[in-house]
Amino acid sequence: MRISVLSETDGAETRVSATPETVKKYKNLGADVVVQAGAGLKAGISDAEFEAAGASIAKTAKDALKDADVILRVRRPAEGELKGAKPGALLIGILDPYGQDAALKALAAAQVSAFAMELMPRITRAQVMDVLSSQANLAGYRAVVDATAEYGRAMPMMMTAAGTVPAARVFVMGAGVAGLQAIATARRLGAVVTATDVRPAAKEQVESLGAKFVAVEDEEFKQAETAGGYAKEMSAEYKAKQAALVASHIAKQDIVITTALIPGRPAPKLVSREMVESMKPGSVIVDLAVERGGNCELAQPGQVVEHNGVKIVGHLNVPGRLAATASSLYAKNLYAFVETLVNKETKALAVKWDDELVKATCLTRDGAIVHTTFQPAA
Ligand code: NAD
Repeated sequence: MRISVLSETDGAETRVSATPETVKKYKNLGADVVVQAGAGLKAGISDAEFEAAGASIAKTAKDALKDADVILRVRRPAEGELKGAKPGALLIGILDPYGQDAALKALAAAQVSAFAMELMPRITRAQVMDVLSSQANLAGYRAVVDATAEYGRAMPMMMTAAGTVPAARVFVMGAGVAGLQAIATARRLGAVVTATDVRPAAKEQVESLGAKFVAVEDEEFKQAETAGGYAKEMSAEYKAKQAALVASHIAKQDIVITTALIPGRPAPKLVSREMVESMKPGSVIVDLAVERGGNCELAQPGQVVEHNGVKIVGHLNVPGRLAATASSLYAKNLYAFVETLVNKETKALAVKWDDELVKATCLTRDGAIVHTTFQPAA
């Protein structure tokens, strides 16, 4: 069994899909590991470190792909990048399948069995494979670090001989994995933190971190969580009530971190231009949902923009801003999944195609798109 770790071809991607630690684990599983030269450099991992862990280094992507049974990536390879892959090879990564019909067809045409890690069910057995959580947790932490860097004031209350500095007021919108870590991080830095969400379960979690929960808690709110634990898209009536509450709250905040997402849908718009204009100059908004359209109307992907003195931070690939940590956790998520695809006795791949983890994540197989959610329109 040969496992190949390809370099990322998107220039903005800093992470890598394996680390020396997981290379050793793959070797213990009985695999040969091939790493494309330079694949780990942006995450601070040299080829020599991969070699010391037991990997061999391939000079080019073509060399790395040759004879691979399992191909590991962070992001989906662009069309043509899988040329030369063995038919039936497994491709595992964050494959971003929503609205990407052409890309899915290309994966099918490349004859790989492609697995989208972000579709992993959030069940106990798969927690260790949950790339959304491992990466969102880091994004939530980094959002606060980025906000702190842009904010021209101190976060904690300080009582000094020269006078008292008030604590920053931080408002976190969306209290899922990223939002909860943002709350915890802002609290550690001494901010006074409030947070909102549409799921009732979030209230207790927010309060357990020492933040105040601010939300419209009506009948619709009580039903807002899907069986999978995600938020539903809210009605126009709820959105109007939420906007009125947020409008009065946000004007008093120094830092706003937005993280609200609905699976497979554009991010809900929660912070309007008028709300930004109600904030004091020097305030900062960090929009973690910017890649999915943004929670803030004025956020620009990949930019820090200023509007009436309010900075709106729209960094892309926020987990990639912590490339070494993000790679370390992502690589462990991948290893945990690959381990379930291998027969420990024969040390060969033995994919159980009816396993719920396989069924939930497998997009393409034997030249066809097999995932029920992503069937091409008839
Ligand atoms: P997400 O990234 O899909 O969304 C982020 C947050 O935005 C969510 O909390 C969501 O409720 C919130 N949101 C959506 N629309 C909103 C709106 N209009 N206004 C305010 N907030 C809004 O969520 P996530 O971080 O992936 O977490 C989703 C759920 O999965 C949570 O319940 C989480 O606890 C759960 N989870 C379970 C496991 C597990 O059991 N293995 C692991 C991770 C997360």
